[in-house]
Amino acid sequence: MSAVLETLMQNDLLSSVAYVTSAILFVFGLKLMGSPDSAQRGNLLSAGGMLLAVVVTLLSSGLDYKWIALGVAIGSAIGYVTAVRVQMTAMPEMVALFNGSGGLASLLLGASEYTSHGADPEFQGFTAFVTFLAIIIGGVTFTGSVIAWAKLSEKIDGKPILYPGQQFVNAALLLTALVLGVLFTLDPTRGVLVGASSGGGAMVLSSSIVFLGLVVLSLMLGVMVVIPIGGADMPVAISLLNSYSGLAACAAGYAINNSILIVAGALVGASGIVLTNIMCKAMNRSLGNVLFSGFGSGAGGSGAAVEGEAKAATPEDAYYVLEAASTVVIAPGYGLAVAQAQHAVRELGDILEDNGTEVKYAIHPVAGRMPGHMNVLLAEANVPYEQLVEMDGINPHMPNTDVCIVIGANDVVNPAAREDETSPIYGMPIINADAARTVYVLKRSMNTGFAGISNPLFFCENTRMIFGDAKKTVESLIEQFKS
Ligand code: NDP
Repeated sequence: MSAVLETLMQNDLLSSVAYVTSAILFVFGLKLMGSPDSAQRGNLLSAGGMLLAVVVTLLSSGLDYKWIALGVAIGSAIGYVTAVRVQMTAMPEMVALFNGSGGLASLLLGASEYTSHGADPEFQGFTAFVTFLAIIIGGVTFTGSVIAWAKLSEKIDGKPILYPGQQFVNAALLLTALVLGVLFTLDPTRGVLVGASSGGGAMVLSSSIVFLGLVVLSLMLGVMVVIPIGGADMPVAISLLNSYSGLAACAAGYAINNSILIVAGALVGASGIVLTNIMCKAMNRSLGNVLFSGFGSGAGGSGAAVEGEAKAATPEDAYYVLEAASTVVIAPGYGLAVAQAQHAVRELGDILEDNGTEVKYAIHPVAGRMPGHMNVLLAEANVPYEQLVEMDGINPHMPNTDVCIVIGANDVVNPAAREDETSPIYGMPIINADAARTVYVLKRSMNTGFAGISNPLFFCENTRMIFGDAKKTVESLIEQFKS
């Protein structure tokens, strides 16, 4: 049976039809992912397309499947154990590692193409160029994503890492990589003349050393370009790395002449660029500004010190105000994910609505630790989609809002972004929670958020802090309403 399938798939026409079918499944899958109602179907459709592409590629290649089976077994075991053990709050880190794995796979594909066909005359020119792209973008994606993972999981400090002459070092690395890339493209089998030996002869780096140099430079560049990005700019870095992983796969697809890899890579690359653009707009920053902001004055600082006394309240105090409120806005952030409070929050929202209060959820595009994090959490708890309002939609209503309940959000409601020119997040649009008549902030302590900056909202006249785990606090509020 498998021999028959193999023979069928080695027919170019049949495998092309199967690839086009996969591409159509990807495109429709992406389209369905645009709405929460159809997102699950979209995911399944795209996964089906990927399965078809993998099966067709394996069958049409006539490979020795022993090693592939071993690789699939090891990869599946690692994937299974990781997926079962990963905490929901660690999903963003896992996504960063997925991006990195995509980059590493493209780098390895480029390397394998070079070692097996680098000496063939037809490798020169276009194939050498796309192989160079797969290696350089793949390498940057791999190490850049590992640094992003380390920052997100707090294995290293999330703040920008800066040193004198950083811009010069990065430019020199990039330039060297480009020069080696041009030489590699023109003739991948030729070495590079690097000077004269003491005996007067030419000193030439062999072609394989040039190739290795490219690999090492790509890995170094990934580290160097991501370390100066930190704090609130990380969402842009993550979506950009996501886009790079697609572009690297697309280049690798051209290198090995595999149409479905080109299509899948282009789709990931393009959607990553769209997402990067959305994230830049959300931060009110240009891409260049994010990538090179580490070199601007004041970057990496923590803004003006906030003085004053924060006033604490209990769930019981908040109950009396909420009971009488006509309009309530819930502003969720990363702490909602940590506390896994989404179901309790939905229950509180329902109780408030039954009490005649209008309830809306204010969604900041970079709240949480991955794009769409809050939408996913609230959708999981079946919060009606119409109650979710984007930042631009909710802000004009904040001055007429009776109560804003900030649940585990910090940076995305920090008024320093609006008012303090020395703040690293100055200029980033925020949810104007402070404009509501009363603000309740649910968090465990006075600690800072991801960007590491103090928050003047906690000291406002109309703010009350309710300290404790967000889920427990919301459950106490629910109890107050029920008793
Ligand atoms: P923040 O990281 O600014 O703040 C989260 C707050 O949640 C913390 O201050 C913490 O305070 C509180 N918290 C943690 N656990 C709990 C708990 N169990 N119960 C109650 N509160 C809790 O989150 P925001 O969502 O406001 O902002 C997101 C930040 O992450 C931005 O800086 C953004 O740029 C960045 N980022 C976003 C990405 C994205 O794609 N969305 C990706 C990478 C970074 P305490 O410890 O006192 O409880």
